[in-house]
Amino acid sequence: MKMSKMFVQTLREFPSDAEVVSHKMLARAGFIKKLTSGVYNYMPLMWRVLKKIENIVREEMDKAGAQELLMPFVQPKELWEESGRWDAYGKELMRLKDRHDRVMCLGPTHEEIITALARDVLKSYKQMPVNLYQIQSKFRDEVRPRYGLLRGREFIMKDAYSFDTSQEGLDKEYENMAHAYTKIFNRCGLPTKMVQSDSGAIGGSVSHEFMVLTDTDAGENDVFYCDECGYAANSNHAVSKLLPAETDGAKYFSKTEIIDTPNTHSIEELAEFLNIPSTLILKTLVYIVDKNPVLALIRADKTVEETKLMNAVGGNEIRIASSAEIAELMAEKGFDAVPGFIGPNGMTGITIVADETVRDMKNFVVGVNQTDKHKVGANLSDIPAIENYVDIRLVEAGDFCPDCGKPLKVTQGIEVGNIFQLGTKYSAPMKAVYLDENGKTKPYIMGCYGIGISRTAAAAVEAHHDEHGIKWPISIAPYHVVIVPVNIKDELQMKVANEMYEKLLSAGVEVVLDDRDERAGVKFKDADLIGFPFRVTVGKTINEGFVEYKIRETGEMLKLAPEEAVKDLIKEILNK
Ligand code: ATP
Ligand code: MG
Repeated sequence: MKMSKMFVQTLREFPSDAEVVSHKMLARAGFIKKLTSGVYNYMPLMWRVLKKIENIVREEMDKAGAQELLMPFVQPKELWEESGRWDAYGKELMRLKDRHDRVMCLGPTHEEIITALARDVLKSYKQMPVNLYQIQSKFRDEVRPRYGLLRGREFIMKDAYSFDTSQEGLDKEYENMAHAYTKIFNRCGLPTKMVQSDSGAIGGSVSHEFMVLTDTDAGENDVFYCDECGYAANSNHAVSKLLPAETDGAKYFSKTEIIDTPNTHSIEELAEFLNIPSTLILKTLVYIVDKNPVLALIRADKTVEETKLMNAVGGNEIRIASSAEIAELMAEKGFDAVPGFIGPNGMTGITIVADETVRDMKNFVVGVNQTDKHKVGANLSDIPAIENYVDIRLVEAGDFCPDCGKPLKVTQGIEVGNIFQLGTKYSAPMKAVYLDENGKTKPYIMGCYGIGISRTAAAAVEAHHDEHGIKWPISIAPYHVVIVPVNIKDELQMKVANEMYEKLLSAGVEVVLDDRDERAGVKFKDADLIGFPFRVTVGKTINEGFVEYKIRETGEMLKLAPEEAVKDLIKEILNK
């Protein structure tokens, strides 16, 4: 490829709407161009990277025994009604009508389509196990499309779905996929950690995410892990053993009474006013889960993990209630307390979820829905009866590992893929069944396995860059080498550059010749920004028989004869 012909536009500045490194660099280096919010053109450089990732995914999926197909992008509402997700999926599902007023949606994922397809084809146990996958654009009307390709509205995904006749079969395929995923990400130059994750409202299911650990601010997930035993989990799923804490307030409160606690709107203010540790306060929080208020009770030194709370009540969307919603709720229940003084008593008809930390509390402090007052020396018998305690607590670094008891650590991660045991979640409601050995009909036991192709490319930039630009791993670089003649008017420089270019091309190396009539500094800047793994500069030293050979990853520079440089590149890149 000649640089002068390449359809690329590098920018002098980072785009102003880009917050994270990968978005900034991919936009500035001319890999992506935004069309509208969360929707990007993949420019030729980007498309080469994406195709390389796709090919690695394809090779490993095929090796693992999966078969590729391609399903439609536009999907009919009826199938989503069968699975029960038409209402449940929420606003991320982009809904539309055709000219006959038939309601459709843009595929955000394909469980419904594949399950309907399988039920037409997989009639007998003899046809299983089978694993089917596709690589395709998805559309999700994300609440906050941001971070460029990391969280787009339109993005490319590999999604695979397995069909088995037994849980053992599914377990085996799940293992098989976990193994394939590890190989895929390693080949992309992106080591990942496989972590336990939230599997939604269906209890008992197993799921794992593949996280690229990162110290940049692009990691949207907190990952808790134990160096000692290998435990690793997303914060929405992580559990821990608690550190010892003071949970009996007997020494502070000799009797149960309601007292004045003026202006104690926060836990800190209340603890300071009463001169007690916050572990003696029962915190009551109001959330809205799928439009309904839910009260969460937790020991006040701890934080509620929203996904855990949402799963505990079986919802799809959760957020903390606004002050206006709390005021409305108070009015409805006949109280006029402001936030800071809310408590569970008198909140009839509302779901109340109590965290495990509440179980051991004695002689504690709790809100009684009266502004500027709290009940002190309270016990569990003073609040509405709690039927069962659930873990809705956010784990913190330093908490003890649930498996081995050593302190947990925390880091940020970008989820590039996940694997999920679905069981009969789709096959049962959609009546997707087969005949077993005894002629009985049974629903398929399913698994699903996703990889964000475009997100993986962006995660690679997060993991591999410096202040000058991207440092693509060779396996997914758009091109391997750029040859930069310093002065295109110098005959010898151009002759050597052209010869090297031709030799590398014919050996199968992906090479760009920067034949633009630009200053060397501009070309070097672009080379670093775009992130070619190798740069060969043909400048004045060619008069002494040398070119300059630079390795982007390490910054190492060598002076080599042109033939040596060519030989070395072929060896490094093609392992020949
Ligand atoms: P997230 O929690 O990040 O929203 P998800 O749980 O919705 O991800 P899946 O529905 O399982 O993700 O999709 C499979 C893969 O697709 C994810 O692991 C991720 O790599 C990718 N992906 C999901 N949403 C997006 C998006 N908005 N932009 C780019 N890639 C995405
Ligand atoms: Mg999502």
